[in-house]
Amino acid sequence: MHVVILGFPGAGKGTQTKFLAECLSVPSLSSGDLFRRHQREGTPLGQQVRTYVDSGLLVPDEITIAMILDEINSPSYSDGFVLDGFPRNVNQALELDRALDFAGMDIDCALLIDVTQEALADRLGKRLVCNRCQSIYHTEASPPRNSGLCDYCNGRLERRADDEPEALVRRLRAYQEESAPVVDFYARAGKLVKVDGTGTVERVRQRIKEAIICPATQDNRLSKPVH
Ligand code: AMP
Repeated sequence: MHVVILGFPGAGKGTQTKFLAECLSVPSLSSGDLFRRHQREGTPLGQQVRTYVDSGLLVPDEITIAMILDEINSPSYSDGFVLDGFPRNVNQALELDRALDFAGMDIDCALLIDVTQEALADRLGKRLVCNRCQSIYHTEASPPRNSGLCDYCNGRLERRADDEPEALVRRLRAYQEESAPVVDFYARAGKLVKVDGTGTVERVRQRIKEAIICPATQDNRLSKPVH
């Protein structure tokens, strides 16, 4: 199964991507995590994208598309994937379709996690990310057991540079201008499934389960996209 996750920064894509990938028994891949890993490891690509990522601007397509297609062409993704953060514009969506088509495959579902602007401000203002395994915490809704340390790997929890207000404004603008049309792109293709992303992680998880894992009893099933 090939799934892409769409939604504003802070909609909860990262958290729900990992959950959905586990349920579908396919690997997950986050373009943002991949860029941050390159930055941490100091690779040439990491240095090339640092100013874009840290300031909340989209990395140019030629870099991003090459990086993602290279990754999903590896055998680990032969049974499918859940993609978080890619595609971020219509050109990327077209290139992804083209690459899958070449391999005789297709995107099965684009999941939009829908949240209000107020929920975004709260989530991003209180988000902490493990600098080692990228697990995501919220200082109030899902705090770590030991302050400042990851429950899973004991890595240090940090605020992302691009969650700071100035970069955040740029990321929200980039979403509105570039990524909102991607939602229409998948809606027109009959592949969009929309779930309400407000409430607890568990509640959103349940909605995703009902919409994608066992959709037969639900209104927003795969065969009936929500526009
Ligand atoms: P994210 O973790 O998905 O919020 O991504 C963090 C940052 O990585 C974004 O603000 C961009 O600078 C860069 N990035 C991630 N995915 C993409 C993409 N598909 N296209 C361009 N830039 C991206």
